[in-house]
Amino acid sequence: MTGLPPWLEHQAASLAAAQRGGRLGHALLLAGPAGIGKRSLARWLVQRLLCSAPEADGAACGTCADCHLLAGAGHPDLLRLEPEAQGRQIGVEAVRALCAELALSRHRATWKLAVIDPADAMTQAAANSLLKTLEEPTDNRLMILVAEHPERLPATVRSRCQALRQGLPSRADALAWLRTEGVAEEAATAALDAAGGAPLRAWTLLESEGLAERRQWLQALAEVARGETDPLALAADWGRTADPAPLQAWAAEIESRIGRQLVRGDEAGRLAARRLFRLLDRLWALLTWQGGGINRQLQLEALLLEWARLGTRDVRPGAGVPSTESR
Ligand SMILES: [Zn+2]
Repeated sequence: MTGLPPWLEHQAASLAAAQRGGRLGHALLLAGPAGIGKRSLARWLVQRLLCSAPEADGAACGTCADCHLLAGAGHPDLLRLEPEAQGRQIGVEAVRALCAELALSRHRATWKLAVIDPADAMTQAAANSLLKTLEEPTDNRLMILVAEHPERLPATVRSRCQALRQGLPSRADALAWLRTEGVAEEAATAALDAAGGAPLRAWTLLESEGLAERRQWLQALAEVARGETDPLALAADWGRTADPAPLQAWAAEIESRIGRQLVRGDEAGRLAARRLFRLLDRLWALLTWQGGGINRQLQLEALLLEWARLGTRDVRPGAGVPSTESR
């Protein structure tokens, strides 16, 4: 029993086998969409490697001093690097400092670990500064890169990592897991839809009770797309707060629409997906926008106007949103 969701079991088993066989290497890349448990898998591995009294099967005991350190204030042999704030990038100085510290001697455990999460938040220069450490590894040092978009990492970095990719679990598996977590059938279905099929994201939505709010945002977006709500009115509404959540929900909605277009496999689908990708790029730029004020507001208005212009023409037939295309 790993305590991990069932769809991560085989990844966990292969990591455990690599650990037993001394084949863990010095850099792992845990890749896959948001909300499937990459972070849980990383934490599970970190626990196993730092525990000083593991079970016979290598599982962390949960009671030794190292396990306590890890669960509490933090373990001195675990270095973590993340952006200073959500949506920010990880710069080259932070990565250099991490690599320098990783090279120092271990404090108490057999392993010294560095987790970069999300690794795709590193700037190109920051990612490139990992290369020296990846090319000249020190024994019992392991770097764990967690990435939703591994393609944003330089190929030179990716090729030096052992990559474990995990896709979305099947809908049946995701729903079954949510049920074992005590979520009622109907709520599980609604949350999983809202989370684009990612079960841990669905769980987070349920936990934060963000579902109703999110439904309102998506409702407003659908009304703009159908021409029932003025995009500028919605921009004014959303512009009142710096909360990125409505924009994040919008980005997830665009991503799932892109997915639906691409599976069509025809030219119209590809064209629609391309338009949506352009919008998504601009939305991501707005999400990482450091300034505020009038420019942010103008950008938001421009994006919602574009969303209204795209309308519902690329929504899959039968999705319950009537098409407004006059053609
Ligand atoms: Zn332990």
